[in-house]
Amino acid sequence: MIQNVGNHLRRGIASVFSGRTSRKSASRAEHADGAMVDSEGYRSPTEVQMSQMVLPCHTNQRGELSVGQLLKWVDTAACLSAERHAGCPCVTASMDDIYFEHTISVGQVVNIKAKVNRAFNSSMEVKLKQTTPRTEEEKTEHSVAAERRRMRLLYADTIKDLLANCAIQDDLESRDCSCMVPAEKTRVESVELVLPPHANHQGNTFGGQIMAWMENVATIAASRLCRAHPTLKAIEMFHFRGPSQVGDRLVLKAIVNNAFKHSMEVGVCVEAYRQEAETHRRHINSAFMTFVVLDADEQPRTLPWIRPQPGDGERRYREASARKKIRLDRKYIVSCKQGEMPLSVPWDPSNQVYLSYNNVSSLKMLVAKDNWVLSSEVNQVRLYTLEEDKFLSFHMEMSVHVDTTQAFLLLSDLLRRPEWDKHYRSVELVQQVDEDDAIYHVISPVLGGDTKPQDFVILASRRKPCDNGDPYVIAMRSVTLPTHPETPAYRRGETLCSGFCFWREGDQLTKVSYYNQATPGFLNYVTTNVAGLSSEFYTTFKACEQFLLDNRNDLAPSLQTL
Ligand code: ADP
Repeated sequence: MIQNVGNHLRRGIASVFSGRTSRKSASRAEHADGAMVDSEGYRSPTEVQMSQMVLPCHTNQRGELSVGQLLKWVDTAACLSAERHAGCPCVTASMDDIYFEHTISVGQVVNIKAKVNRAFNSSMEVKLKQTTPRTEEEKTEHSVAAERRRMRLLYADTIKDLLANCAIQDDLESRDCSCMVPAEKTRVESVELVLPPHANHQGNTFGGQIMAWMENVATIAASRLCRAHPTLKAIEMFHFRGPSQVGDRLVLKAIVNNAFKHSMEVGVCVEAYRQEAETHRRHINSAFMTFVVLDADEQPRTLPWIRPQPGDGERRYREASARKKIRLDRKYIVSCKQGEMPLSVPWDPSNQVYLSYNNVSSLKMLVAKDNWVLSSEVNQVRLYTLEEDKFLSFHMEMSVHVDTTQAFLLLSDLLRRPEWDKHYRSVELVQQVDEDDAIYHVISPVLGGDTKPQDFVILASRRKPCDNGDPYVIAMRSVTLPTHPETPAYRRGETLCSGFCFWREGDQLTKVSYYNQATPGFLNYVTTNVAGLSSEFYTTFKACEQFLLDNRNDLAPSLQTL
């Protein structure tokens, strides 16, 4: 969630859980005063905790905690946390996607934890101090917050590209009209007067209150399609476009934009005006919510088709399809635990933002793990290993007398990797996705015991640091591309998570680390090196150092702006 104080504060809800399904990070302990602290007694200064007993007045007709009430509590906790950081009143600017997995019933306790992950200065009205992450978990949250922000900023472009480039099935013509519901029949319009209990002490309406009203009208629109009680499954990014105050009239409008087999998208738009005579309405917020209808066995019911109105209705119908695809891609790619993910994910323009997000954040999370063990050291090059349930990862580390940006630029150009890495026989640039993301086809020589050379299709995503202390990152993972299918000439290799990090240690001195999460096909080679039965890792990494030293002065002029 983002709080607005003239500039933006990135704030995350660490967790929201019911008394029955509490989730806690293992490295933390419950303190006598209820604060979450680590083993050194550290607690983030912005952390706020709230516990609420679910009473009948908080529930819907089924006796479950209403989503609107939950949003109000989450928003309040988040706001208090943001204010602790900013030292002045904050209001909610936006909230990321929310997925609802469980229902919470009367008598259960809801614990909400909020803390500031990161502060972004995007306006000059108030200069916010930067957050300083302390624990490993906070450092990861801090840097992943930057990736999430990038994804948020690109969201509108992704939808546009998807609608322009992908033919979304327009099968309206072929459907049986008799079981179609005209979208018009689901339209809802409602008005709320903002009173003092709905606002903070400065008179600004609580974001959580507006979201709760939006959820209310969306639920009514959804029930008009299915003629039953709908269940909210997901809310897409709330983005507040402007503030509203006590005395404003808020007009909330909702309609079902599209119905899929088992789910529907309802769009809600909120406008404000102050006086009855006023014709100008300020746009406050728009959101899209996904509902399902559950039968007695909790299984989703099949929904009727929707017939959109010509014009805006048809546009929203198509946009809802695009949003559905993005939501699925995003949920799958971003929230999937690494071990459960297929190694290669199909590349397509609509999921590129999430794939590169996932690429960078996976590497950052691997880097941030606190159970790395130094395995060996040769000529000031260190080899570390990390043994986890399903994966063995390793990383090599050395300090090189080269400028950090220069090292980053030299190694982010995969076309030059064959100059130092004998595992890269040849490299072809398949697609320059944007300035910082590119897809390469890599051919490796025959490895010991193999009969065929290997090939890889790799997405490389590079990021420069947002803050002092952040590393430069080059993340790599396999993707699949229809233009580069597996062929009999090569054995298709895959990398799940690998790449480089660079830390500035001084003028012309850089700590360079190479990370790799060993995939099954590569494991034997890794263990041979880790066990000291081969010194190829060291030889390769030393060759990398020599490459950086040999090219330390040839900064490409076009990239000097970095
Ligand atoms: P967009 O039209 O691009 O979706 P808006 O902010 O205008 O964006 O509206 C957001 C959503 O609110 C729409 O998708 C629609 O579902 C709903 N909505 C907008 N205007 C109306 C209206 N007059 N009546 C009912 N619902 C509306």
